[in-house]
Amino acid sequence: MSDFNFETEAIRNQLERSQFQEHSTPMYLTSSFVFEDAEDMRASFTEEKIRTIYSRYSNPNTSEFVEKVVAMEKAEDGYAFATGMAAIFSTFAALLSSGDHIVSARSVFGSTHTLFTKYLPKWNIETSYFDINKPEEIESFIKPSTKIIYAETPTNPGVDLIDLELLGKIAKKHHLLLVIDNCFATPYIQQPIKYGADLVVHSATKLMDGQGRVLGGVVVGNSDLIREIYLFSRNTGPAMSPFNAWVLSKSLETLAVRVEKHCENALKVAEFLESNKNVSLVKYPFLESHPQYEIAKKQMKLGGNIIAFEIKGGIEAGKKFLNSIKLCSLSANLGDTRTIVTHPASTTHFRLSEEERLAAGITPGLVRVSVGLENVIDVISDLEQALNS
Ligand SMILES: *Cc1c(COP(=O)(O)O)cnc(C)c1O
Repeated sequence: MSDFNFETEAIRNQLERSQFQEHSTPMYLTSSFVFEDAEDMRASFTEEKIRTIYSRYSNPNTSEFVEKVVAMEKAEDGYAFATGMAAIFSTFAALLSSGDHIVSARSVFGSTHTLFTKYLPKWNIETSYFDINKPEEIESFIKPSTKIIYAETPTNPGVDLIDLELLGKIAKKHHLLLVIDNCFATPYIQQPIKYGADLVVHSATKLMDGQGRVLGGVVVGNSDLIREIYLFSRNTGPAMSPFNAWVLSKSLETLAVRVEKHCENALKVAEFLESNKNVSLVKYPFLESHPQYEIAKKQMKLGGNIIAFEIKGGIEAGKKFLNSIKLCSLSANLGDTRTIVTHPASTTHFRLSEEERLAAGITPGLVRVSVGLENVIDVISDLEQALNS
């Protein structure tokens, strides 16, 4: 691994050129690779010789994408997956056994929560949840069978933060693995490995692609752990497609400039929302009013592009707000060039009871905005007319 600066790694960390001397990396759309002779084939399968064999194991395009993320997160090694959820599931499946225990923040991505509550228990892997705003409680959940501490920061959809340095210390003291979902921050804003994370997972679908085109996931970190995750994945098949890896690798070349602009726009939108009379609460890490502003300043380079806010008038007002939006999109994605607005209580979480929603941190008036790269004046005008309607 070289040690150029972030933007340079993102652009110049690329595959060796072929005989055609191409300037940018071509797509290697091939399912398999040929061997020189029987000896070459034997050596490759016994891993005496490291080379590409079959695209379920690895492919030049996925390797390039992984190398970039490894450099950006200052990790030792990594592996790429079809989606963020494939990355998260494979990490648990590869590293845990029946009887093991996870301590996780309660506010985690919806499908991760479903994994903890519905699927991992099928293999006798249990999870205990701590309140992200009470990290002092974490140690009380640790048992002899605990193997992993898991968290994401900032969280989805509440935009709460957790002190990564504190998590790193707790994990080290109890000899536990610390796994962090760094999707909302991206490695440009925050590098959890610096604070002691053993593994960092990402949904590359979000800001890494940043243009709403492809799905992808990646895990980076300690090379012994990645080796276990690689062996599991090589045999079970959740690998990233070479086409998606090619798109994502190209996207990473502009990650730094895109994230800078996303964050600049998001701060302006957050300040606008804070000044609007129909908004009762705004949560954005780089607003001084964020309850964990000190943590944000300590571990984040910028505030990210996600804002959570509370609209006055509860569920009806939230629904009316969504129906009045003209420019922004109502969509399930986030981290796109296009600004996306969601009102969980009247849409994605409508089926839950009020109590269930509140337990998941979804208040009746909670709105989540993923600020895009349009001219921010147009985004603010759209939100303003919808709020005033
Ligand atoms: C979207 C998301 C995931 C899941 O990623 P997919 O690529 O959709 O599978 C995991 N964690 C967070 C924080 C996310 O936002």
